[in-house]
Amino acid sequence: MKTIKLIIGSIALSLAVASCCQKQASPTAEPDMKHLLLATAWYQQSAEMRACYYQAYTMAKMALRENLQNHRGAKPAAVVLDIDETVLDNSPFEAKLMADRQNYSDSAWMAWSARCEAWALPGAAEFIGYARELGVEVFFISNRIEEERARTLKNLAASGMAVDSAHLLLYDLSKKTSCKDERRSLVSDSHDIILFIGDNLGDYTSLFDRRDSRLALQIADSLKNDFGRKFIILPNPMYGEWENAIYDHNYSLPMSEKNEMMLKLLRK
Ligand SMILES: [Mg+2]
Repeated sequence: MKTIKLIIGSIALSLAVASCCQKQASPTAEPDMKHLLLATAWYQQSAEMRACYYQAYTMAKMALRENLQNHRGAKPAAVVLDIDETVLDNSPFEAKLMADRQNYSDSAWMAWSARCEAWALPGAAEFIGYARELGVEVFFISNRIEEERARTLKNLAASGMAVDSAHLLLYDLSKKTSCKDERRSLVSDSHDIILFIGDNLGDYTSLFDRRDSRLALQIADSLKNDFGRKFIILPNPMYGEWENAIYDHNYSLPMSEKNEMMLKLLRK
């Protein structure tokens, strides 16, 4: 379900897997996840969300076509997509956590991803077909972990977005970082990446991976001309590096404390 937060240095397995879902298990016994309810309802049940995805993938087609026309590189052209909340919808996982009054846990996420029941997000499968029609190779770079490889291939295929294993670059826990730079470089060794698509700005550049108290807002401003042209951003109000940064990367704080931090931060 999720994009990954940057993890540098030594990491525990649980934290690494949690990063796939952008969260860490909370120690609280009675989780208060109401903060997720509105975001998940919007994401899963609003026509506006579907329209946003269609709009983004329409823009992605336009950008892909234009970038391909301008492509002068010797290598074949490629597009790189994230998976969770980019092409696959894991909002039922969020909903189930809330219904069961459970916090995020690695085991819960792994149980969900093993079901291979994430649906394709609006416009995603059509875009992938379009890219292939144009002769653009499609790569997925995701922070799902290697243990999820077979199930991820299966879920993508079941959702009309079949891909072979060589075009799926997952998070190797032995690398000790979920940063996608190395995997982007791997693709770039053999291809010219002419477009990136994701729900987290870290799907485009590691500049957004570990955000400080300024939340990378100024970095987004500095790259404003890339959005819609080199990187297509999709909406994800449920989780992301943006949220971790607000909590100063202390995701395991009690929700009440995190709510306070959010409220304090908001411009009034
Ligand atoms: Mg994602």
